[in-house]
Amino acid sequence: MGSISKQNKQTSVLLVTVAAQGHVNPMLRLGNLLVSKGLHVTLATHDHALNHTSSTVGGVHLEFFSDGLPEDYNRQTMDYDYYMNSLRTHGPVNLSSMIRSHTRKFSCIINTPFVPWGADVAADFRIPCAMVWIQPCTLYQIYYYYYNKLNEFPTETNPDLTVKLPGLLPLSPEELPSFVLPSNTFRQFDCMLQEVFQNTHKVRWVLGNSFMELEKDVITAMKDAGRNFLPVGPIAPAGLFGKVDELGGDLRGFDKLKSDKECDCLKWLDKQEPKSVVYISFGSLIFSSDEQTERIARGLKNTKRPFLWVVKQAKNEKVKDFGVLEEIKEQGLIVKWSPQTAVLSHPSVGCFLSHCGWNSLIESVSAGVPVIACPQWTDQPTNAKLVTDAWKVGVKANQNSDGLFDGEEVERCVEEIMSGQRSEEFRKNAAELKTAACEAVADGGSSDKNIELFVNEVVLSSCSEI
Ligand code: UDP
Repeated sequence: MGSISKQNKQTSVLLVTVAAQGHVNPMLRLGNLLVSKGLHVTLATHDHALNHTSSTVGGVHLEFFSDGLPEDYNRQTMDYDYYMNSLRTHGPVNLSSMIRSHTRKFSCIINTPFVPWGADVAADFRIPCAMVWIQPCTLYQIYYYYYNKLNEFPTETNPDLTVKLPGLLPLSPEELPSFVLPSNTFRQFDCMLQEVFQNTHKVRWVLGNSFMELEKDVITAMKDAGRNFLPVGPIAPAGLFGKVDELGGDLRGFDKLKSDKECDCLKWLDKQEPKSVVYISFGSLIFSSDEQTERIARGLKNTKRPFLWVVKQAKNEKVKDFGVLEEIKEQGLIVKWSPQTAVLSHPSVGCFLSHCGWNSLIESVSAGVPVIACPQWTDQPTNAKLVTDAWKVGVKANQNSDGLFDGEEVERCVEEIMSGQRSEEFRKNAAELKTAACEAVADGGSSDKNIELFVNEVVLSSCSEI
C-alpha cells in the first residue's frame, strides 16, 4: 500500500462506464487498485443486470443510472447506434441526479471513452475528470491524429495510404482501426471518438491500460508532445501477477453468458500436459456464425491438440451441436464462458487464439501466453499488428474473401505457434513481456508510480476544495 494511503481515507472517486464486459472489467480492476491505495471508490453503470448483482464487487461500491432503455433491453447487442444514442441522451441527466442524491461527495469522475460526457458532468459539479483509455496507447495516438486532422488517413479516393505517426510502426489500411477507414459504418462510435479527441482539454488525466515497457516509443512520443497520458497497466487481476487477488476484481460475465461450470475449465486444464492446450475466445461481444464455428472446429480437429473453447450463445439458445463440434467433443472442452484470467495463467495453456480485444490481449501479455490473432474490427487489427510486428509474440490468421477464418488457416497458425520454427521465439518474447508487466505494477514499478502520482493529485485537489 502506498505511503499516501493513510491521508486520503475520505477521498471518494466515481468511476463511470458503459456496461460492456470489456469496459466493466478494467474499471472494476482499476477501482480495486484505487481502493488498495486508500481511496473510496464507487462505480456507476447503466445495465440493470449489474444493478441486480450486488452492491459491491471487491472493495468497489456499485451504483446505477438509467440509460433510458427498458430493463430487459439486451445491452450486449450489436445495435450500437440505437443503444449508444439513448445512453448519450439520458445518461448525463440521470448520472447527475444520482450524484446529487448520493451521500458521498466525489472528488473526481473517472470515465471511459464510451461515456465522454462524464467530463461535462464533472465540470457541472466543479470536480476534475480523468479518462481511462481502455485500448493500447497506440490507438490513442492514432485517434488523436485522426480526429484532430493532424495527418492523412485513407480515403475513398486514396484507400491504400500507409499511415506514419510518431512512435508507431507504419500502418497499412488493414492494420488501422476500422473506425478511421472510409468503410466505417458505425456513425455513433465515430461521433463518440470525435467528442473524446476534440475535448481532451476537459480531462485532467488520461490513465492508460498499458505500461511503459510495452509501448515505449509511442508513450515517449506522446509525452514529448506534452499529453497528459499516464500508463497505469496492466489493469488486471492480481492473480495474473502471481499475487493473491484479495479484493476480487471481476463480474463473472453478464447473465446470459454465465456458466455454472466455470470451475470445470480449471479442473479440466489440471489434467492436460504443460503448454499443450489451445485456448480460444472471441471476447464478450462477438458471436461467431455457425459457419465460422464449424471452420474453426475443422482446423482444431486436424491439429489433434487439446483445446478449451468459449463458444457463446445468445440467451435461450441451445448449445451448438452440429456435425464437427460433436466429432471433436473428446479432444477438448467447449464452454459458454471461462474464467479467462485464471485460464491464461494455467500452466497447461500453450497459446491463445483471440479476437485481440485489448483486455484479452493485455491479459495474455500479463500471463506470458503467445497469441494467434484473429482480428475483426475496431482496435483489433492494430492490436494484431502489435502482436506480430512490435512484440513478436504470435502470428496473425488471415481471413478468406468472405471474411472467415478457414480451418486450414487455423491449423496453420496453431502449428506455427505451438511447434513451428519461431515457436521458441514467441514463448521467450511472451515470457519477457510477462516479467516486464509484473515489474510495471509492482511497488515502485513504472505503472505503480503513475497510479501513486494520480492518487496523490486527486487527494491534493480534494483537500484544496475543503
Ligand atoms: N472474458 C471472460 N471469459 C470469457 C470471455 C471473456 O472472462 O469466456 C473476459 C476477458 O477476460 C476480458 C473481457 O471478458 O476481460 C473481454 O474483453 P475484450 O476487450 O477482450 O473483448 P470484448 O468483449 O470487449 O470484445
